[in-house]
Amino acid sequence: ERDIGIEFDRWGMPKVDPKTMQSTLPNVFFGGDAAFGPKNIIWAVAHGHDAAISIDKLCQGEDVNDRPPPGVTLVSQKMGIHEWSYDNDISNDLRYKVPLRDISVALKDIRTEVELGYDDKLAYLEAERCLNCDVQTVFTGKLCIECDACVDICPMDCITFTQDGEEEELRTRLSAPATDLTQDLYIGNSLKTGRIMVKDEDVCLHCGLCAERCPTGAWDMQKFLIEITQAGPACRAHR
Ligand code: SF4
Ligand code: SF4
Repeated sequence: ERDIGIEFDRWGMPKVDPKTMQSTLPNVFFGGDAAFGPKNIIWAVAHGHDAAISIDKLCQGEDVNDRPPPGVTLVSQKMGIHEWSYDNDISNDLRYKVPLRDISVALKDIRTEVELGYDDKLAYLEAERCLNCDVQTVFTGKLCIECDACVDICPMDCITFTQDGEEEELRTRLSAPATDLTQDLYIGNSLKTGRIMVKDEDVCLHCGLCAERCPTGAWDMQKFLIEITQAGPACRAHR
């Protein structure tokens, strides 16, 4: 296919637009390993969705770059003063070890499977360690009375109320300095004293203790849902 007008890079991979999955030949699209080399199946499925949107728009005579953003919703998980719709208990358990076959049996035959896997009870305990990454801390500055109760109760010291400043310097004066530059800081403003709320998302356990302690509801725990746009009428421009 190398002589039909598709350009390839120096690694022999087709040049593909990572947003539209379109190659340099406008009616040819790539995804998965064929586009960017080995990744996982989740990426391949996402590429397929993106390519399908592009193909749909191309067939409709629309600009493949003009794509609608995904739908996003945040829904409060509060069910009472100290009750959430998700399990927010934190524990300092160590990783539960996968049970192994007795070494004298395992060594007798190289084909013997050594890891026995979790039984029901261990599997349940391991699943309980979920960090609830889909439940986000959401801060509303105008409700905050700056009592510092959330700072006090946070088990990870990830909330700081301080004066604003340049990010590089600001990161050094947080309760727990945020040294991972790849992780954005969560900034809340509109505070009456002019200070800002800074939260290091990298260490948050999503335990919800800040929201339980807050007397004004300035913190809330909200479930984040993303609805990816799919090919079809919803992805087309409204005419
Ligand atoms: S959810 Fe828990 S760990 Fe995260 S900021 Fe609130 S109290 Fe701290
Ligand atoms: S507990 Fe609530 S009101 Fe108090 S500082 Fe934290 S967010 Fe503000």
